[in-house]
Amino acid sequence: MPSYSAPVDDTLFLLKDVFGYDRYADLPGFSDAPLDLVEAILREGGKFAEEVLQPLNQSGDRQGCVRNDDGTVTTPDGFRKAYQAFCENGWGTLAAHPDYGGQGLPHTLATVVNEFASSANMAFAMYPGLTAGAVAALTTHASEDLKKTFLPNMIAGTWTGTMNLTEPHCGTDLGLIRTKAVPQTDGSYRITGTKIFISAGEHDLAENIIHLVLARIEGAPEGTKGISLFVVPRNQVASDGTAGDANGVSCGSIEHKMGIHGNATCVMNFDDAAGWLVGEENKGLKAMFIMMNEARLGVAVQGLSQSEVAYQNAVTYAKDRLQGRSLTGPKSPDKPADPIIVHPDVRRTLMSIRAFNEAARALVIWTALHGDVSHRSDDEKARQFSDDMMGLMTPVLKGVLTDTGFANAVNAQQMYGGHGYIGEWGMEQFVRDARITMIYEGANGIQALDLVGRKLPANGGRAIMSFFNEVNTFLKENKDDKELAAFTGPLKKAMDDLQAATMWFMNNAMKNPDNAGAGSTDYMHLFGLTALGYMWARMALTIKAKLAEDAGGKADWFENKLAFGTFFMERTLPETSAHLARISSGSDTMMSVGADAF
Ligand SMILES: Cc1cc2nc3c(=O)[nH]c(=O)nc-3n(C[C@H](O)[C@H](O)[C@H](O)COP(=O)(O)OP(=O)(O)OC[C@H]3O[C@@H](n4cnc5c(N)ncnc54)[C@H](O)[C@@H]3O)c2cc1C
Repeated sequence: MPSYSAPVDDTLFLLKDVFGYDRYADLPGFSDAPLDLVEAILREGGKFAEEVLQPLNQSGDRQGCVRNDDGTVTTPDGFRKAYQAFCENGWGTLAAHPDYGGQGLPHTLATVVNEFASSANMAFAMYPGLTAGAVAALTTHASEDLKKTFLPNMIAGTWTGTMNLTEPHCGTDLGLIRTKAVPQTDGSYRITGTKIFISAGEHDLAENIIHLVLARIEGAPEGTKGISLFVVPRNQVASDGTAGDANGVSCGSIEHKMGIHGNATCVMNFDDAAGWLVGEENKGLKAMFIMMNEARLGVAVQGLSQSEVAYQNAVTYAKDRLQGRSLTGPKSPDKPADPIIVHPDVRRTLMSIRAFNEAARALVIWTALHGDVSHRSDDEKARQFSDDMMGLMTPVLKGVLTDTGFANAVNAQQMYGGHGYIGEWGMEQFVRDARITMIYEGANGIQALDLVGRKLPANGGRAIMSFFNEVNTFLKENKDDKELAAFTGPLKKAMDDLQAATMWFMNNAMKNPDNAGAGSTDYMHLFGLTALGYMWARMALTIKAKLAEDAGGKADWFENKLAFGTFFMERTLPETSAHLARISSGSDTMMSVGADAF
């Protein structure tokens, strides 16, 4: 049976020591959550994930969701009770707006709790995760009336939310959407169309399901310029505010899929369903982007979460499984063989996963803090800088944490040999669950294009220049620190590669856009590695300072952490050179042959 232990201490180290959580005390919500409260929230969140959600992960995977003949969907045993406990404990209210029943605490805290919940049970965590995204979109773009109608119940978890973009013929290219919206005299719309692959589209956890649906108002322009966003409840809202009559929304079927079996992936039919416009006509993509960006960060966290839980189990196994002898002589001479953790190649695998996870967690928290600043600060300059960092880092986190998260889950499975392939150990489930993270919320190839095609050139390259400036300033400030050289040296090299790649795009992608497309995935990973290296350098700086003073009885913990960081700088970060070489080779070869050559 797999197990999970939430990395609360590591998270507190990042929040408190590396990123100086106290510095944010003047932002709304932060003063309501001083560090002792943050610690209590994280410990409780960790406990809930470990004790309530994790025990349902394997059984939920085996049982899956079932669509009944009447179109209702039953979630796996135990999910309803766990969801009730989730709502009663207020986990969904953490960062939501106080005007509608939320606690208004930093969004960063909700992000961290989401990591714990997703590691414990990713399929379950998606139900409240999608609701949080829908709440964010409605909070930003809906009219006050719509907010009052939907938000309190969604925030309390009595109702859940979904996002409805995909149609059978329309995935990445949202300009192809056909679902139509017909205006009514009372200001509402009638929505008709079919959406596929809708996560949490139908289930038995909540009283009502609130769908955010992209559709085209009759007569709207073709393409993405003619798409609007609608809120469409499964059940009409009765005059007393509760779920009332059916509203022409039904689940036609659920998908039989590779993983996340505990989450219902539905074909949703909208038959003349009553819906209300969110934001402006034909500006639906802009409004939906609030939800999509929130969901992209959520999916990045899912990638990390599967990497983390798979790592934890692989370590337990590697300390226990006896096979072969250490190359330097027996380490457990009293036993028939040594535990496999003595073998350098096993250590290489485990260290590379953990070194990635710890830097990835740091980058998620760094970005989430920027998210809080961008939404809550009254300093316009700080808001703009943080908004730039969020925009830049969203595709990087989504693409890199999920590509590598999946690869890490496979590598952790490898530690089990043949036993990793067998269901009872749970490792193959982590691999299957992690796989979807690379696909949904914009397949990773699209994230890379978003980074190179949109985020880099935006505002004359302001965001990327700010990022360069921040890392270069760090390097300059610490250039004479010999103790930090094992971190600053490789980081400087990675920065040189990243700046060279950025320059290469400037010189070569304008005249031939295929050069941008051909190098975009490599650029996304080059960027991600550099940002992760920067996170390790910042962690190392903090640790050195801790070790120089009284490390509070945690000297071993800090020394071990430094070893994982050193491993990352020695072994993982140099991959930036290969990415630069691939980017600079351009698109000529791959575009030189016709489609029939493949
Ligand atoms: C389990 C599951 C849950 C999902 N949940 C939801 C949900 O809740 N709501 C929702 O709306 N959707 C959901 N989806 C849909 C998901 O977001 C889409 O599958 C995804 O966006 C890709 O669309 P597609 O499958 O049509 O692939 P396509 O768009 O057909 O893409 C196929 C491949 O071509 C590549 N590609 C396409 N265009 C380009 C381009 N211009 N340049 C380079 N490469 C390109 C893509 O990267 C991809 O690898 C879910 C899907 C699954 C499987």
